[in-house]
Order: sequence, then structure tokens, then C-alpha cells
Amino acid sequence: PEHPGMKAARAWLAGAPKRLLIDGEWVAARSGRTIAVLNPATEEELALIAEGDKADVDAAVAAARRALEAPNWKGISPHARTRVLLAIADAIERHKDELSALESLDNGMPSWFSAAALGACVDAFRYYAGWPSKIHGTTNPTDAAQFIYTLREPVGVCGQINPWNVPLLLVALKIAPPLACGNTVVLKPSELASLTSLRIAELAQETGLLPPGVLNIVTGYGPTVGAAMTEHPDIDKVSFTGSTAVGRSILLASAGNFKRVTLELGGKTPNIIFPDADMEKAVLAAVNGFTRNSGQICSAGSRLFVHESIHDEVAQEVSRIAATLKVGSPFEADTKLGPVISARQRERVMGYVDAGNADGANLMTGGCQLGNQGYYIAPTVFSGVKNRMKIAREEIFGPVLSIIPFKDEEDAVFQGNDTPYGLAAGIWTRDIGRAHKMARAIRAGRVWINTFGETDPVMPFGGFKQSGIGREFGIDSVMAYTETKSVHVRF
Ligand code: NAD
Repeated sequence: PEHPGMKAARAWLAGAPKRLLIDGEWVAARSGRTIAVLNPATEEELALIAEGDKADVDAAVAAARRALEAPNWKGISPHARTRVLLAIADAIERHKDELSALESLDNGMPSWFSAAALGACVDAFRYYAGWPSKIHGTTNPTDAAQFIYTLREPVGVCGQINPWNVPLLLVALKIAPPLACGNTVVLKPSELASLTSLRIAELAQETGLLPPGVLNIVTGYGPTVGAAMTEHPDIDKVSFTGSTAVGRSILLASAGNFKRVTLELGGKTPNIIFPDADMEKAVLAAVNGFTRNSGQICSAGSRLFVHESIHDEVAQEVSRIAATLKVGSPFEADTKLGPVISARQRERVMGYVDAGNADGANLMTGGCQLGNQGYYIAPTVFSGVKNRMKIAREEIFGPVLSIIPFKDEEDAVFQGNDTPYGLAAGIWTRDIGRAHKMARAIRAGRVWINTFGETDPVMPFGGFKQSGIGREFGIDSVMAYTETKSVHVRF
């Protein structure tokens, strides 16, 4: 049976080339150029999107600046901002099947995964819809002749840059918190997967509650649109999700006007199994941890540390299960892994498979491309990996797992932390004391104990070390999109 959202998604795709949203209007790129978007499962052209450039960014930033100061945005009550975000959430939910189909066509993720991402997107809009009336300042202790209080005010115009791996969730994270706090937004989705962000922006405009210029979308390439945003003197804050290499260039480019910067970057997450773990659960989570979204998740459990006493047996079982997972069309119900995003990404991942083989890791299953159309890669497991090998050090962003033995708790902490990244970690043990001790010892922004990969809008997310700067989700996003002002009154 056809996916319930396919007809609507196809109808939307059949519309004219997709445009930019600037100042409440859908406009072509000023250069007139477009980018062809490919379906990674079929390599067919799905749609044309606008190839924006610096001139479009300038126009979007000017609109966002005007909107920031306009009475119909700056002057509205927190409750009114709540209604805006709830209306957007409702509109997204009404189009959930269409958006899920569109995401799977654009990104290649299995439709069960895009449906889950859609749910998380709606939850994030609703969670942040609750915040505007709760962004309290403080009244600060002082003597009777004076009064000191603080306000939390919007940061201003926010330049938001997203990757391609889970656009439905990341678009919510880049729009809902800044709007909840009264900012305005210029968003650049990834040139490889912009479609659901564009459709959500359309739905947001159609609510009729967003004044022109509050939300702007400029599609295009990173070195043009993205760079113009990070260098722009009239953008107050940049929030970037993407690779560590690009994150570094963004931090440097933002220095000109001292933009506030949030960076959500790469990872090389250690997932650690002790011999006393619930082995069935741990093994299944280890498989899901590196195969979900074909491993294209920043917190993918790409390094599986297994106690040396059970390393061989766990490696056997993980590989056995991984080999049974169906790799195929995102729209077949039993598909567990779709294609990776692009031919280039497939080449990158296959390069790491070659490196694993060359470095003497033990290839247990996979290690090859599949089919002759679409960018499919078989789930790949290496065991007996050394933490210093290239496959254990660099982010692969594909369905490739390194299984690494460890001796004891101390060794697990040492090896787990022996990485430039610090985004997340998993710990599997029935010893509650050990679990909490490990949670403190691991240098990562998120720790899962006896679970892996779960997310909730109340939980701050972000990286230690080279996995980023700042946190998103929870109250941390509210802090990141507001500035503190202290007011001192003397009577
Ligand atoms: P990427 O860094 O190549 O691109 C991300 C975005 O930045 C894209 O929109 C791109 O066009 C833009 N960009 C590229 N060059 C730029 C420049 N010079 N200036 C400004 N913008 C520029 O990343 P990707 O390949 O799209 O995504 C994969 C990466 O994202 C992985 O490293 C992954 O770990 C990371 N990621 C992190 C998180 C997190 O929350 N920490 C979440 C998802 C993905």
C-alpha cells in the first residue's frame, strides 16, 4: 500500500521550483539560480530549490530586523506567542503524513523514522509554546531605598543553520525556542534536505499569525548562504548544527560582531556494556544505536565498548542481528535502514570501511554497498578494534560499528573519554552504583543508562569538548535565546 502522505507530498513537489521565504513573501533567489534535490533511494530528481546567496541573506536579515522591532511582534504578549507556536504545531500535526513522506523522499530515512521525527517536531513546538509566559526575571535582595530586578530579553535576529540528517526535528529546534523568546529567525536548511523545512515554513505562514519577517528561510550552499549569515554584522546570534570542521569556521566568522554562538557538532559516542548488563536489551540497543537513520545521527553509538570477557560473544550476536536488518526502500514497512544521503557520503563511509580493513580490524558483517540504484550500505560491524584506529577516532556518519574490548571500569572510562568528541554516552550495567559513577566520569553532554538514543524536549542536549558549545532543548534553549538585563532603581 502507498504511504498515506505520498499523494500530498507528490502534489506539493509538483509545484513550481521552491522559493525563499523573505519578509512574508515566497520569492525566487535574486540570482535566479536553482539547486536540484535528489531522492537518495532512487537518485531521481525530486525538486528544484532556490540557490540563495548573499543578496538574499541581506534581504532576509533586513526583514528580520524590521520584524524584531515591529509592534505586531515586539509588542505582543507572551500568551500571544504561545498561540502562534501552538497553531504551528497543530498545522504540522494535520499534515503529518505528508511531511513524513516528504522527509523520507528527501533524506531517504525509513518512513517509521520520519514519522517518529515528525512526532518529536510537534512535541518540541508544543513544549516551547509553554515557555513564553514562564521566562521569569528575578527580583534581587537589596535595602529599602532601592529595587533591583532582571529581565530576560530576546537576543535579536537569529541565524539558524541546519544539517540534513534529521531536518524535521532540527527545524523545530531552530524555530520554536527563538520565537518563544521573541526573536526573529533567518533559517538555512541543508542544501541536501531542505524540503520539510520549506513546507513547515509554508504551514507556519498559513496560520496567519506570524507577522512578515519573523521567520525567513534562505536555501542554498554553506560557503555562500551559510557564510554570509555567520559574517553578517546585523545577525545577533548563530545557532549551527553540523560538522565539527564547519563549526570551527563558524566560530571564527562570528567573531566580527561577537555573535552569540551555539554549536551542536559531531560525536563518536561510546556505548559501554558491562558483563552484568541485561544482555538482550544491551545488544539490541547497540544494533539500533549504529543503524538508526543508517548511522547518520550525531549521537550514534559508533564505538561499542564490551568487557573483554564477553567481547567475542557480544560481537557475534550484534553482527548476527545486524545482518538480518532489511536495507531497502524507505517506504517498505519492514525496512530498517534506508540509503545514506548522497553518493559522496557513501564514498566517505566506504573509505572508512577500507581503513578498518587496512588497520587490521576484524570485519564481522557488511562492509559493502548494496544494489545498483540508491546509496545503500550494508550494516557493517568491526570487532577487536583498537581505540586509536581511524574508524574509532573519526566520525563516520554511516552504518559502521567499531567494537572495542575493555578490561575494567577505569579502562572503560579512559578509552570512552579518549576522543576529541563528547556528545553522548551509553552505559549498560545492573550495578546502580557503577552506573552513576560512570555517568559522572564520562565527559559527554548526555548519558544514557540502560537505554540508548532516547530524546525528550525537556532534556538539554549538546557537547563537551569538540562536540560543540552550549546546549539546546529544555530551559537551556530559553537561556540561549535571551539576554539578561539588570535594572537598578533608586527611590
Ligand atoms: P555540515 O557541517 O557539512 O553542514 C551543515 C550545514 O552547514 C549545512 O546547511 C551546510 O550548507 C552549512 N555550511 C557548510 N559550510 C558552511 C560555512 N562555511 N559557513 C556556514 N555554513 C556552512 O554537516 P552535514 O554534513 O550537513 O551534517 C552532518 C554533521 O552534523 C555531522 O557531523 C553530525 O554529527 C552533525 N550533527 C550534529 C548534531 C548535534 O546536535 N550535535 C545533530 C545532527 C547532526
